[in-house]
Amino acid sequence: MIVLKFGGTSVGTVDNIKKVAAIVSSMNESKIVVLSAMSGVTNTLQNISNLLSEGNISEASSVINTLNIKYLDVVNDLYNKDESIKKATAFLRLHNGLLQSLVSDDHTSKIQRIILAQGEIVSTNLFQLYLNEIGESSELISALDFMIIDQNNEPDNDYIKDHLKRILAKYPSTRTFITQGFICKNRKDEIDNLERGGSDYTASIIGAAIASSQIQIWTDIDGMHNNDPRFVDRTFSIEEISFDEAAELAYFGAKILHPQSIIPAKENNIPVLLKNTFKPEAKGTLIYNNARVEKIRAVAAKDNITAIKIKSYRMLLAYGFLKKIFEVFDQNQTPIDMITTSEVAVSLTIDNISQLEKIIQELEGFGSIEVDNDLSIICIAGNIAQNKKGVTAAIFNCLVDIPIRMISYGGSNYNLSFLVKSQDKVAVLNLLNEGLFIPLASQKKSVMV
Ligand code: ADP
Ligand code: ASP
Ligand code: MG
Repeated sequence: MIVLKFGGTSVGTVDNIKKVAAIVSSMNESKIVVLSAMSGVTNTLQNISNLLSEGNISEASSVINTLNIKYLDVVNDLYNKDESIKKATAFLRLHNGLLQSLVSDDHTSKIQRIILAQGEIVSTNLFQLYLNEIGESSELISALDFMIIDQNNEPDNDYIKDHLKRILAKYPSTRTFITQGFICKNRKDEIDNLERGGSDYTASIIGAAIASSQIQIWTDIDGMHNNDPRFVDRTFSIEEISFDEAAELAYFGAKILHPQSIIPAKENNIPVLLKNTFKPEAKGTLIYNNARVEKIRAVAAKDNITAIKIKSYRMLLAYGFLKKIFEVFDQNQTPIDMITTSEVAVSLTIDNISQLEKIIQELEGFGSIEVDNDLSIICIAGNIAQNKKGVTAAIFNCLVDIPIRMISYGGSNYNLSFLVKSQDKVAVLNLLNEGLFIPLASQKKSVMV
């Protein structure tokens, strides 16, 4: 069995939904199809929820009506048969009624999460009706019946495996299952989600739960590119990449994959294939354990980084200092991304600043504290740190005019990261592209080691 996940753009218009249906029905293997909400819908739902928390009830209600009109237009264009149109319209009537019933002064986070979950519920229902119409049999299974997160917001893999297996076993002859990405239930049995962009994670968690032979992530680009195509012009698709490199790139900003989505696939050694819904013939990117090794594979950038420097002469020749600093972040449940030390100072970065004030207060007991905002981490993935002469020189030669705040090198063999001001990010990504990738691409010279 394989898992196929289609993102928001892939199910974002009637034409695109038809393309997805064609891809799904062309595959002979049995499969679980994971769908995102139609593009823009989760943002609209977030907007509705924001309006409700501001008490702007009438505007929230009118945005719900506009969304319903958008869905009705899709129904009119997508289906030919009266029966499908009737079923879809009846479904949307119920759905619109549910959203309107949540419009009230009393907007809680529980209601917010119910609202956010609706995009995937609609896209999967409309998609299944379309498969029905074109004679493709399928079963729609609700992610809310098996996708559970624990008190730390981590998937409860044993529960998921057990419940999903039981659900699938009820339909022994079904070859195509459809389910929602992103949405789940939490330990309190409330509707919850795997955070924005989380449908990739759903696909990977399901892949691990059913021990699928492959997880395919279908999106709007032909695989993982060597650099961020939103900021750099001449990027190219990477044919293959290791789990470790892909995980670094996803974590450090390559939006094509949700940061956590590689973990279940890597742990269960399930290859992940990134494919383009609009160019299915393109090879895409295969993420697997034995990917060809390359010195420099790709670059990504993560924004909204805050750096904290703790300076203290008490650190000189002392032990236990770092432990105490780490404990502050630990107790405030704030992950650290990068860290560098000298004899008298420690610099580290965080992206979650919800506890920043408290953290600073507690750190002040250890020395003087400096905080810098509006920074970006640039991550270079590849086989960089295994005594490959000249790789680091080539990287920093591209950046002679860019002030660099921190460098992290040698923590793993396949990552070099550094911290720059966010205003320099686009320039850095382009300089690295021109300096490291374009010469190689134009000379058609292999960087295989
Ligand atoms: P989906 O809705 O299918 O989940 P996303 O918008 O989340 O799609 O991810 C695909 C987008 O990721 C691409 O359109 C591209 O702009 C962006 N992206 C950022 N970095 C990369 C990269 N290194 N390779 C490919 N795409 C990237
Ligand atoms: N629909 C959700 C979002 O927009 C999940 C996803 O698309 O992966 O974040
Ligand atoms: Mg995505």
